Amino acid sequence: MNWPYKNELGEKEIYKTDVLVVGGGIAGCMAAISAAKSGQKVMLIEKGATERSGAGGSGCDHWESAATNPGSKVKPEDLVKAMIDNEDGYNNGISHYIECREGYDTLLEIEKMGGKIRDNDDEFLGAKFRDEKTKLLYAYDYENKMTIRIWGTTFKPAMYNELKRLGVQVVDRVMVTSLLTLNGKQGDKIIGATGFNNRTGKFMVFEAKATIMCMSRPARVWLFSEAHPGLSEFRPLQCIGDGHAMGWRSGAEFNMMEKSVRAEFSAAGQSFPPYGAGNNHNTWYPATLIDSRGKEIPYLDRDGNELKDFYDRTVPAYDQPFFLKGGNIDEAKYAYDGPETVPFDTLIEMGYVPPFYADLTEMPDHERNVIWGMMVGEEGKTRVPILKNYTDRGFDPKEHVLQCYGAGWKSSNFSSNERQLFGLPGGFYNDWKLMSSQDGLFVAGDALFASNCYGHAASTGSYAGRHAAEYASTMVLESYKEDQVRTEEVRLFGFLEEKDAVLEWKEINASISKIMRNYCGDQKHGNILKQGLICLDELEEKAYKQGYARNPHELMRMHEVLNILTVSKLIIHACLERKSSSQKLDFNRIDYPEQEVEKAFILIKEANGFVESRNVPLDYYGDLKANYEKFNSDYLEGKNDI
Ligand SMILES: Cc1cc2nc3c(=O)[nH]c(=O)nc-3n(C[C@H](O)[C@H](O)[C@H](O)COP(=O)(O)OP(=O)(O)OC[C@H]3O[C@@H](n4cnc5c(N)ncnc54)[C@H](O)[C@@H]3O)c2cc1C
Repeated sequence: MNWPYKNELGEKEIYKTDVLVVGGGIAGCMAAISAAKSGQKVMLIEKGATERSGAGGSGCDHWESAATNPGSKVKPEDLVKAMIDNEDGYNNGISHYIECREGYDTLLEIEKMGGKIRDNDDEFLGAKFRDEKTKLLYAYDYENKMTIRIWGTTFKPAMYNELKRLGVQVVDRVMVTSLLTLNGKQGDKIIGATGFNNRTGKFMVFEAKATIMCMSRPARVWLFSEAHPGLSEFRPLQCIGDGHAMGWRSGAEFNMMEKSVRAEFSAAGQSFPPYGAGNNHNTWYPATLIDSRGKEIPYLDRDGNELKDFYDRTVPAYDQPFFLKGGNIDEAKYAYDGPETVPFDTLIEMGYVPPFYADLTEMPDHERNVIWGMMVGEEGKTRVPILKNYTDRGFDPKEHVLQCYGAGWKSSNFSSNERQLFGLPGGFYNDWKLMSSQDGLFVAGDALFASNCYGHAASTGSYAGRHAAEYASTMVLESYKEDQVRTEEVRLFGFLEEKDAVLEWKEINASISKIMRNYCGDQKHGNILKQGLICLDELEEKAYKQGYARNPHELMRMHEVLNILTVSKLIIHACLERKSSSQKLDFNRIDYPEQEVEKAFILIKEANGFVESRNVPLDYYGDLKANYEKFNSDYLEGKNDI
């Protein structure tokens, strides 16, 4: 096969920096920007092309938790309290407080870089969701105004230009593969990382005083389609949890990794591309839904009262302080909000006739145009696949309705053993500086436990960058152990050698997913989980013996899959450590059916080949406001300068 890139296999390059950012998505870009602004030398390593990479690279239509924006009627403390209560305490108080407290500042910073956050062209002049003075457009709760509609397709290129302007050294097309530890010892201070160029094969070593982990979270653990690994996946193909795998190997602590939910949508080719089917959730809120006879399925409040006026959908219920997407926070607003939340049988019992459709035709013009054209268009993965392709094929939201499949944007095709890390899943444990349990390793964005959303990723990225820069300013570069680097080099490149290799990455991924469905599905039992670990160990051994890659690109895919395997073991270990069931964590142990015997976070890590765990109270973060202010006095002083 002709390979279009330089052949640099066998070559090695060493880089030195103050702050190393691994992963150039939303969190990574903002981390690098804020560390560079703090005066440190910064390198950012990205597997794809930073200008558009990651879950937010193709866009984002709404920015949540902007509690400090001028229109907001919600205090950061109240918003974060609702978020924590909503999860019965299983949430990341620190990172979500940062999101609520600094999110709007971060949004303004992105605006200064060139991101579009206001309706400056007056496209929505007079709309109920527009503030005439600031030209900000609000979403969902029009009364409390803490979610802002944004033109997210403009953000990532703006961040990229800012990285360049600040002199951040951006290294694209490099897969980071391991973290380097002081003296090569697991659990010790992080002093850099290794990686390789996924086009040329060059091996790279990065030495750093501080490292920031921004590689998002795992995917393709329970579900993988060899035929459809692309668009039908929710997240980009390259975001599969490499960071979790290397953090586990380096000895960092993880939290809530036992939590998984029944797969909902966009995985393994089993559902429509995200936001491409009729629904009334998220991007499509508050779309009208109808049945096949055109009969509207009305929105009801939680007491069963029909919301007669369209704009009732955009204000809280009579005694509800505020709500987020779909009316779903702080006392649910709705008894149901259409096919998405109610099983089809119930709707049929209620007299509706399937199929169901999202119907924008009768909605106020601004409401229709903001859903189809702005939200669908600016939202991740929608501009070309949905807005352009559907429009090119004749879809006109003034005339046509869009069919709901399965349960709206979700799919009912998934079995209970087909699971995903979704809805505030587990991840790296963090302290108030967003440092992991490992000295020198900071974490931001979707890599954190109980993380979600763009504003959260951007603001925690910025915050981690600031604190990592401060840390780096007091450190010296430590020398890495040659043995540690050499062992990694051998592990990485062995797959390219001639041998009796028969296994390609897709087969290994399919096997992992099958093991996880069979041994770590919905109903878990200690003996079955342990059997799963044995299967994963056997598969890993086989993969290292029989796996092959024909070029650096396939080598990257192979190591991604081995990382999925490591993450799968991490998940099973976490499941074994929690010895009671928990509805909130969607965690069912057949051998420990009692609910919430241990109402605490259970942190796990690997140390010298063994798994260690410890319990931490759910409110380990203490008083949110007081602690935030204690750790961020410099930021609060300089806030007016942003
Ligand atoms: C389709 C879609 C729509 C969304 N819409 C919204 C929305 O409207 N509002 C909202 O608030 N949130 C939305 N989100 C969520 C939001 O985009 C994410 O929460 C956010 O992007 C997370 O940022 P991150 O930096 O943690 O991860 P990402 O932005 O995914 O970045 C991770 C980066 O790490 C890189 N990487 C991974 N592994 C390696 C490796 N081994 N070496 C080097 N680099 C690596 C990846 O290439 C990627 O660039 C959406 C997500 C998706 C998928």
